[in-house]
Amino acid sequence: MKLESLKELFVHELQDLYSAENQIIKALPKMADKASSPELKSALQEHLQETKGQLRRLDQIFDQIQDVDRDDEKCKGIEGIIKEGSDMLGEDADADVLDAGIIAAAQRVEHYEIAAYGTVRTYANLLGKQNWAELLQQTLSEEKAADQKLNALAEHINMEAQAA
Ligand code: FE
Ligand code: FE
Ligand code: ZN
Repeated sequence: MKLESLKELFVHELQDLYSAENQIIKALPKMADKASSPELKSALQEHLQETKGQLRRLDQIFDQIQDVDRDDEKCKGIEGIIKEGSDMLGEDADADVLDAGIIAAAQRVEHYEIAAYGTVRTYANLLGKQNWAELLQQTLSEEKAADQKLNALAEHINMEAQAA
């Protein structure tokens, strides 16, 4: 891979996100399965549906870029975050404590995505690709909303974990 221009760095970051979203689509159902709180379970399931749409937005952008393999990168950051989360899902845990841990893992995922989407949205603007910037901003807003939702759920779930 050569990185001789901002455009090439943009493509590299976009491929990283493409890999990240694909990994998240596989991980979210497992997290939702293990969640005991119905609100947490449905928040994770809703974000799974949203994530599938986010992948389609990336596809829309890749469709407009010539000679690039969208599957060319593996996001090792998300791979590590998901691995930490899945190790935790295997622990023998109190249901409320496990829910608090699932939120902690899910928020790490969201924060990684928020950082990455902010970057590619800004690069798209610099590259004069307004329509790409808009697509990426839509996803960025969804990731931020998902993070806020998890914050709100943590407020009572952490209390229940503390009482366990
Ligand atoms: Fe996402
Ligand atoms: Fe990455
Ligand atoms: Zn997300």
